[in-house]
Amino acid sequence: MGKYYITTAIDYVNAKPHIGHAYEKVIADVLARWNRLNGNEVFYLTGTDENAQKNAQAAKEQGDDIQRFVDRNVRYFIELCKKLNLSNDYFIRTTEEKHIKISQNIFEKVLNKGDIYKGTYEGLYCQGCEAFITEKELVDGKCPEHNKEPKYVKEENYFFKMSKYEKEMLKLLEKPGFVFPDYRRKEMYNRVKEEGLKDLCVSRKGTDWGIELPNDKDYSIYVWFDALINYVSALDYPNGKLFKKFWPADVHLIGKGINWFHSVIWPTMLMSAEIKIPKQIVVHGYLTVDGQKISKSLGNVIDPVELVEKYGADTLRYVLIRDIPFGEDGDFSEKALIERINSELANGLGNLVSRSLGMTEKYFDEKIPKGVNLIKFDLSKFEEHFEKLELHSALSEIWRYINECNKFIDEKKPWVLAKENSKELSDVIYSALDSIRIISILVNPFIPETSEKINDKLGVKLGNYKDTKINLLKSGIKTNKGDNLFNRVE
Ligand SMILES: [Zn+2]
Repeated sequence: MGKYYITTAIDYVNAKPHIGHAYEKVIADVLARWNRLNGNEVFYLTGTDENAQKNAQAAKEQGDDIQRFVDRNVRYFIELCKKLNLSNDYFIRTTEEKHIKISQNIFEKVLNKGDIYKGTYEGLYCQGCEAFITEKELVDGKCPEHNKEPKYVKEENYFFKMSKYEKEMLKLLEKPGFVFPDYRRKEMYNRVKEEGLKDLCVSRKGTDWGIELPNDKDYSIYVWFDALINYVSALDYPNGKLFKKFWPADVHLIGKGINWFHSVIWPTMLMSAEIKIPKQIVVHGYLTVDGQKISKSLGNVIDPVELVEKYGADTLRYVLIRDIPFGEDGDFSEKALIERINSELANGLGNLVSRSLGMTEKYFDEKIPKGVNLIKFDLSKFEEHFEKLELHSALSEIWRYINECNKFIDEKKPWVLAKENSKELSDVIYSALDSIRIISILVNPFIPETSEKINDKLGVKLGNYKDTKINLLKSGIKTNKGDNLFNRVE
């Protein structure tokens, strides 16, 4: 049995989560569940970045106490995990005592190594990014992520000798593997190659929010330096059982806007602290809504919790993965969601399950007949897509299988076979039911609730991925047709 540790980025709690947050968490959940299905021991981590000045600012704007503000807002993120039926093993908050201690511990380790020194910082700071930004990164004088002019800052600060790790970083980024998709690796490689690695300011002065520097009470730890540490503090670095078992992370799943922090800054921090670096940074694209960037001013911020309440968690999970080729930007629209519910979920999968169970009820007294599965389907493409993180294509392979099954039933016409008292009838119904069992395993990472419902209808337990071989369904089990898996939406 292998181990698999996957993390998402941790979110600022200055506002409620939007559909983009849901997207990232669902992808991570699909990968976590896929690994469990393959017999791996999995740890899936998500959480919130609470030490950011952004949170403090939002609290002040609302005239609220900062701690009370983050305590209230974090609930929306925890609720989102539940609503989306995420299988996360832990939810980390960076205001947790253990995270604070471990962040200070790692800061101290880097300091004692001689990799942190005091100097003067002079330059531009984007409050949206919570990061210093160079002239070169600006577009029309503004931060391209936030479309805002950065602030000019000059203050005495502590610096991390990131420059010391330039060679090692180039070596890490030189060959394919560390960052996925590969063009995201090349972007990082080229940037280090062209600009070199500069030392990183890792403190903020005179802030009343954040983690205090272990060696200087006038400063707090720069929020990115502490935020990245969540990936090891959640595992109780350095002596925790979880840390020993699951570190290094197999995948840090992140959005393209924070690639530099994960693919460059984080590894150099780990090199300095003498902690193993993660195996892979996986970068997804951004979601647009109805073709436009998600933003408050455009009024297109969709609340994913509302969508789940309206359409169900599985429907939203399905559409988020199905509609967006992994790594690329993709568009979300409620119209496309409804189309997919009707054609693929209600008609495709829902219809296959309901007609097959209906015929089992009618012709076999609700018992799985003896038979041989005549529907052959090659799963190698599905597996290949999964391994390459082409999750949308993995889904379309499953739906190809579903369509094959529906076509098989249409062609075999069990209702005619029943009239003719044909012996073939039991094989035909068995084929459909055994294939549905396999499909329930295949769809499990994507739509886990539906997968469970199918198993309940068949009277079986969810199998492992190795149970996707045909003819494993036992005859004689009592089935239960029950309600439709999905209802059509007009
Ligand atoms: Zn910015």
